[in-house]
Amino acid sequence: MARKIGSRYTANQILGRGSAGTVWLGEGPEGPVAIKLLREDLASDQELVGRFVQERTALLGLDDPHVVAVRDLVVDGNDLALVMDLVRGTDLRTRLDRERRLAPEAAVAIVADVADGLAAAHAAGVVHRDVKPENVLLDMQGPLGPGGSHPALLTDFGVAKLIDSPRRTRATKIIGTPDYLAPEIIEGLPPRAAVDIYALATVLYELLAGFTPFGGGHPGAVLRRHVTETVVPLPGIPDELWQLIVQCLAKAPASRLRASELGARLREQLPLLAGMPPLDVDSPDAESEDGDEAYEEAAEPSAPASARVRRGAVPLVSGAAPDSNRDTHTSMRVPGPDELAGGARGTARAPRAAGAPRPGSARHRASARRRRITLGAAAVALVAAVGLGTWLATSGDDADATPQDTKNSAPASP
Ligand code: ADP
Repeated sequence: MARKIGSRYTANQILGRGSAGTVWLGEGPEGPVAIKLLREDLASDQELVGRFVQERTALLGLDDPHVVAVRDLVVDGNDLALVMDLVRGTDLRTRLDRERRLAPEAAVAIVADVADGLAAAHAAGVVHRDVKPENVLLDMQGPLGPGGSHPALLTDFGVAKLIDSPRRTRATKIIGTPDYLAPEIIEGLPPRAAVDIYALATVLYELLAGFTPFGGGHPGAVLRRHVTETVVPLPGIPDELWQLIVQCLAKAPASRLRASELGARLREQLPLLAGMPPLDVDSPDAESEDGDEAYEEAAEPSAPASARVRRGAVPLVSGAAPDSNRDTHTSMRVPGPDELAGGARGTARAPRAAGAPRPGSARHRASARRRRITLGAAAVALVAAVGLGTWLATSGDDADATPQDTKNSAPASP
């Protein structure tokens, strides 16, 4: 099963599959490496290969203990590969799936590591643009830190930008998760360092709560929430920590902290969080169950099972099969009438303390479900036209930017 990648590397065994390609355990002249072999359709795109090579310097120059180092970029025949340091461990999504919620100390320690990695990247003028738990690797061979966490490293620098072009998005008909998208991206502004801070604050919220602040439901509804809704405090969260999250989830990018400051402020809080158990927050899963059904019923009955996913890349066109079910954790749901009206609630998924009464009994849910199915088609058309149109327009702006625009972005300027 081993295969040669360029003249210097051998890919021996698949470590995992992601949205952009397959990651292999490989061997290079200096020992074991991880090799991300980009998908064939990406590798055969001449424009993308050109951008890939242009990104080379910035990617290879990133050197920080909390960034997975890219050692080499290989363009060889049909192969397009990123050779990275091998991280022996797991990604943060896997840990979160296993534990559901992390103790605040562990969550804050992990996010502080990622903030430090981002600080180094932003100082070098590189914006990540796709900060999410899937792109945080936990190094199980590293020393245990606060809350029993292993060191966290941010990976996939540059990949989001490389594969993000309107032509490509339309060609594959697949979009990634909107859960971590900063409002300014949705509004069409170029992604600057502050988008990474917003995404990282979303990750912190998710580690503490078990769900993202604006996620859930139809991608168009998620986009609208990012722009218009405010986040509601998590029950039991220490106030100082909450204030940091709120500041970094500010709609205005200039109001968010810089990465270096976020890392430092999070570390300051670690002693206060020692020994604190995970927050007792009710999961919104039960609420979204009927929504998932509504989505499934709204999907074309003839659509293959792979297109009726609850998790995974979001197909823009019914019937398009996502490449990976690890691309997103967004559950598909047609937005309810209250969501479409907007602003009826502070947030679409206001967290409730465990045991607090759930709004809507089973009977209410059943009738809401009937209403949603009736409204489903209109809702999908409306939200898709507004939300996704805006998003794709954003990608259009990006494609017009210079190939180096990650580097031209204001370094860490919030
Ligand atoms: P995604 O597109 O979902 O972010 P990736 O393609 O980056 O996923 O990674 C797929 C899998 O490969 C993940 O499970 C991740 O844990 C693993 N992986 C990615 N990079 C490395 C690395 N440098 N070292 C070890 N494992 C890695």
